[in-house]
Amino acid sequence: MKREFAVIGLGRFGGSICEELSMEGMKVLAIDKNEHKINEYKNIASHAVIADSTDEHALKELGIKNIDHVIVAIGDNIQASILTTVILADLGIKKITVKAQSDYHEKILNKIGAHHVVHPERDMGKRIAHSLISSNILDYLELSEDHSMVEVMAGRRMRGKTLVDLNIRAKFGCNVVAIKRGKQMNVSPSADYIIQENDVLIVIGADNDISRFEKQLV
Ligand code: ADP
Repeated sequence: MKREFAVIGLGRFGGSICEELSMEGMKVLAIDKNEHKINEYKNIASHAVIADSTDEHALKELGIKNIDHVIVAIGDNIQASILTTVILADLGIKKITVKAQSDYHEKILNKIGAHHVVHPERDMGKRIAHSLISSNILDYLELSEDHSMVEVMAGRRMRGKTLVDLNIRAKFGCNVVAIKRGKQMNVSPSADYIIQENDVLIVIGADNDISRFEKQLV
């Protein structure tokens, strides 16, 4: 069954969400106050309408209450993003995802009823920074304020060794939760698992432990 989404703000971020959801066959209502944006997306989204999302009446007229999931992707105008989120929360929208511009903005959005706050520029910056530390760091994901998960290619220092030899938990306080070998995923690898070249380790831990692990072993 097709799920209904609304994307408010069709800048680079909102536009890309709108395109991707539409390509995946989802029903998307695209909203922007800028006519040019609406012309750009009218053949991509199921519906594209010019509206100012800080106008509660306009949102009601669009039937926003019947939408399962609303994504607020207003860029620089923090005031408009906050006001839109308050209106959506007041209308009882079940799922509201909002793009934050700063940590301060993120805090406010969480307080006023956003269900999920995304911070794409900051997150992408962090992921890229970690991949710059070593080309063996394939991905980095923030799990909470002080815990992360990294995906690392087995480096020279790991190859031919078992998890016992590397003693990652005792030395760094991190846990190897899975190892990918080609297409095979080994969840909870045993202590005598011998690491080979091209194995990818998925490691979870506190940020400072992950950081020591990255610097010393990856
Ligand atoms: P990005 O950083 O993702 O490119 P932009 O700031 O360039 O984001 O784009 C945000 C979009 O949100 C713009 O197309 C703008 O017209 C739209 N927008 C801003 N405020 C409102 C509003 N109150 N109602 C509807 N659309 C809005």
